[in-house]
Amino acid sequence: MTEPTTLYDVVVIGAGYAGLTATHELLKAGKTVLLVEARDRVGGRVWTQRFDDGTYVDLGGAWVGPTQERLYAMAREFGVETYKTYDEGKSTQYFRGQVKRYKGLIPPLPIGALLSLDAAIKKLNKLSKAVDLAEPWATPNAPYLDSMTLASWMNGQMRFDVARQFFKVAAEAIWAADPTEISLLHALFYTKSCRDLDTLMNIKNGAQEERFVGGAQTIADRLAATFTHQLVFDSPVKAVIQGENDISVVTPKETYKGKRVIITVPPALQTRIDFQPILPVQRAQLIQRMPMGSVWKCYAIYEKPFWREQGLNGLAATPDGHVTVTFDNSPNDGSYGVLMGFVLGNQAKAFAGLSDSDRKLSALHSFATFFGTQALSPVRYLDHSFMNEEWSRGCYAGLMGPGVWTTLGPALRQPVGRIHWAGTETSDIWNGYIDGAIRSGERVATEVMIHGE
Ligand SMILES: Cc1cc2nc3c(=O)[nH]c(=O)nc-3n(C[C@H](O)[C@H](O)[C@H](O)COP(=O)(O)OP(=O)(O)OC[C@H]3O[C@@H](n4cnc5c(N)ncnc54)[C@H](O)[C@@H]3O)c2cc1C
Repeated sequence: MTEPTTLYDVVVIGAGYAGLTATHELLKAGKTVLLVEARDRVGGRVWTQRFDDGTYVDLGGAWVGPTQERLYAMAREFGVETYKTYDEGKSTQYFRGQVKRYKGLIPPLPIGALLSLDAAIKKLNKLSKAVDLAEPWATPNAPYLDSMTLASWMNGQMRFDVARQFFKVAAEAIWAADPTEISLLHALFYTKSCRDLDTLMNIKNGAQEERFVGGAQTIADRLAATFTHQLVFDSPVKAVIQGENDISVVTPKETYKGKRVIITVPPALQTRIDFQPILPVQRAQLIQRMPMGSVWKCYAIYEKPFWREQGLNGLAATPDGHVTVTFDNSPNDGSYGVLMGFVLGNQAKAFAGLSDSDRKLSALHSFATFFGTQALSPVRYLDHSFMNEEWSRGCYAGLMGPGVWTTLGPALRQPVGRIHWAGTETSDIWNGYIDGAIRSGERVATEVMIHGE
């Protein structure tokens, strides 16, 4: 290994949306920057899989919606268009062996369960309003809210088992985790960070409202193309060594030196980096307590979106089976049909234990239950989980269980010597989303410039 000859103003680790944004901002400010990425591509948890026949699917982050202003701005800057998620016709609910169709947002549940579900959603929204987004640990009653899980709160709120089951489906789709894994304070923080629960759940006026023409990685690709010489691939960072006047970033091939380092790697993966000197206790304990969520995306591609002919919008929800939520993920012109099914939380962990053919069988069986037997014969089926990816190890994002925000929260963004932290997990707006990653990249670029050398 050669001794580094260049001293960069900043070395950025991780070329997801956070790292790309930070690099872009610092270069615009005239800094010398190197962006070091473990994978052979940019985008991180956003990965568009493109096939020879021109079809493509987003295996990771895909949707964009209202108030995600930084992501929309970046899409505009790089000429990437958006289009509405197909949402015409009836939604589907499958419960206790029965398929029911309904229009609008209110599922066909027994009235008692429906009222209970509605009251719980309103209550969570109301509680979330009191959260201090910048300092969640300073929220009134924070220790109490952080002492229980979202699941224990749900059990206390909803008398009807049916209501709890459907609330769980929604919660798992939002957090890619079982409600037993998340602190109530984290759920409230996340809810407010993304406006409210309705925004998180919905297509229209919600986080699933639009998608990107050509896939969500297109923006990342175009942004990275503006600084190819500042970007190194296939370079997993193994160690970060702070010296008196500089800081070394060690990869198997090269060691790079910077005056400052920005780390955008998800917290759980930071535990795999050898920090010298070792991280302060708060930081070291925090990153041991932010596990990644669990989710699979199952894609079936059809010659046409056949469910639309039956007046269905492709949206289905069920507490039964592996796939619990589906969306129409067809391209804008509907030239072919794509159904995407989420397998979430504990089901996602169990799904990982199945063979390729059993996973396919299970997902297609669910699609057929919701939309008819045509769903059994896709042109192509594929599924994917970032739990299997060395440089993500789960998705959508790092989560906080009980007690973490209130005991270790202040360490989340606190720089450690010459190290600054970014990544969607550090954002107070759209935490867990691409928009949050971009905001964190902008915030950390400013932070580094304020700290100077
Ligand atoms: C299945 C799924 C669905 C999602 N859906 C949506 C959605 O619809 N809309 C939305 O807005 N968000 C969605 N998200 C979340 C969104 O993708 C993430 O919040 C966002 O991409 C995170 O960006 P980031 O830059 O913070 O982190 P990352 O994208 O994880 O970037 C970190 C980078 O660091 C690299 N890295 C890791 N370890 C090392 C190392 N040791 N050395 C060097 N590099 C390293 C990684 O390869 C990666 O490129 C989804 C995520 C998943 C997985």
